[in-house]
Amino acid sequence: MKASKMLISTLREAPAEAKIASHSLLLRAGMIRNIVAGVYNYMPMGLRTLNKIENIVREEMDKAGAQEIFCSAVQPKELWVESGRWSKYGPELFRFQDRHEREFCLGPTHEEVFTDIVRNTVKSAKNLPLNIYQIQTKYRDEARPRFGLMRGREFIMKDAYSFDKDEAGLNESYNVMYDTYANIFTRFKLNWKAVLADTGAIGGNGSHQFMALSEVGESDIVYCDCDYAADVEKAEAINNVVSNEKELELKEVATPGKHTCEDVAAFLGVDLHKVVKTMIYKDTDSNKFYAVLALGDREINTIKVVNAIGTAEAFLTFANDEELKNLGLYYGSIGPVALNKNIEILVDDEVTKVKNVVVGANKDGYHLTNVNFGRDFSGRVVDLRNVVEGDICPNCGRPLKMDRGIEVGQIFKLQTKYSSAMNCTYVDEAGKNVPMVMGCYGIGITRTMAAIVEQYHDEFGIKWPLNVAPYHLAIVPVKYEDEVQKELADKIYDLVNKTTRIEAILDDRKAGLGMKLKDWELIGIPYAIIIGKRAAEGIVELKNRMTLEKTEVSFEEAINIVKNAVNEL
Ligand code: ATP
Ligand code: MG
Repeated sequence: MKASKMLISTLREAPAEAKIASHSLLLRAGMIRNIVAGVYNYMPMGLRTLNKIENIVREEMDKAGAQEIFCSAVQPKELWVESGRWSKYGPELFRFQDRHEREFCLGPTHEEVFTDIVRNTVKSAKNLPLNIYQIQTKYRDEARPRFGLMRGREFIMKDAYSFDKDEAGLNESYNVMYDTYANIFTRFKLNWKAVLADTGAIGGNGSHQFMALSEVGESDIVYCDCDYAADVEKAEAINNVVSNEKELELKEVATPGKHTCEDVAAFLGVDLHKVVKTMIYKDTDSNKFYAVLALGDREINTIKVVNAIGTAEAFLTFANDEELKNLGLYYGSIGPVALNKNIEILVDDEVTKVKNVVVGANKDGYHLTNVNFGRDFSGRVVDLRNVVEGDICPNCGRPLKMDRGIEVGQIFKLQTKYSSAMNCTYVDEAGKNVPMVMGCYGIGITRTMAAIVEQYHDEFGIKWPLNVAPYHLAIVPVKYEDEVQKELADKIYDLVNKTTRIEAILDDRKAGLGMKLKDWELIGIPYAIIIGKRAAEGIVELKNRMTLEKTEVSFEEAINIVKNAVNEL
């Protein structure tokens, strides 16, 4: 393609709203354009990269024996009522009505639709196992769309769903997808890790997230030198708290104006570890209140609370001032002793191991000291805290480490959650209808595009790996108006087009060399052949975007180097 004919829209300045490299660079390179919060248009260069990412995913999915279909983004309410998610999904679901006031949503995911397709087409066990997938636009009205393609309200996902006869079949399908994802993210040249992920109501160790390691990632990863790795929402650590103290007599003490654990600890001169926080949560689905207890130096893990309650994240909130008042509670002085009976108490297991702790007295401006679990209060004991660096690995007992990652994919054993609810069954040998055992497998295509940029960029712009670069090569004459340079540039362009698989741009624009090169560096074209002073001798300069290396070589040699790299893809 000739640059003069291309829609190039590079920007010299980083747009103010872009806080991370991928957001800024994809905009600056003119690969994407924002239309409204969390929604983007894909410009020619962006679309080429997007298509290449999709095709790599497609190739690996097809190799794994999955079949591609393409579903509508529009989904009828009825399917979501059947699965029970119409009322459970919350405000992320884009809902709308047609002219007949029939209700619909724009798919944030497609479990219902795929389950519906399979129940209507597959009856016999002979057709199982089955893995079908699509690459398609998803809609989620995210509370905080941000960071460009990282968290959009409209984004592209590859979603696959497997259907098996039994648990053993599901495990096999799941393992094939795990390996397929490993191949995919390796082909993208990403530095990635697979981590155990939360499975919510389904439970078990039936999910992995694939994380592209990055400082700007929104996920915290806990890992160990042994192969333990988990998302922080899921990560567990051994409770190694021990206390040999004798239980002392409970006392009430005035703590005027001290509302936080830190303030109370400082005021009473006790270790923060021994001040127990009591947070009142409300499950807005059941309208029940829960008191959640953890040691003062610990953070409460919302997902673990959600799972302990058996609700959904969207339903969990903190009780507000009004509700606390109605429960007879005072902000900053809440505790589990003699608590309102309507509030269920959930106790992080560490709390049960520390003797003589401090808790709120349920009396404004007072706390209780020398409080002991079992003697002074009780409750359901669960793991409710966030793991932190240095906690003890549940697998091997060594200290855990932490990292940040971008969740580029997730695989999940759904079991029979959707097939039971929606009657997606097959007839077994005994003639009985049995629900199929399902798995689902997502890859954020557009988020992956951003993750690659996060791992491959420098101060000049994006450094696309060759297999996802919009073009492989830019042929850049210093001055296209110069007869000799033009002749060589045209010749190289013609040669690569006719004799190689190199995707080349001929920069025939009337502009200074600096400006032209800056564009290709910003966009991240892996190779540039610069044609200048030595054009008459057939000598050019070959520039490698990834290594920033420059070499003077004959034009044939330059073409050969690029050709060989492209042929290896
Ligand atoms: P997150 O926790 O980041 O909100 P999720 O767990 O809700 O993501 P899944 O339902 O597992 O996402 O979707 C599969 C994949 O789709 C994710 O692994 C991620 O790569 C991508 N994805 C999810 N939400 C978005 C979004 N708002 N914008 C871009 N990609 C997304
Ligand atoms: Mg996920």
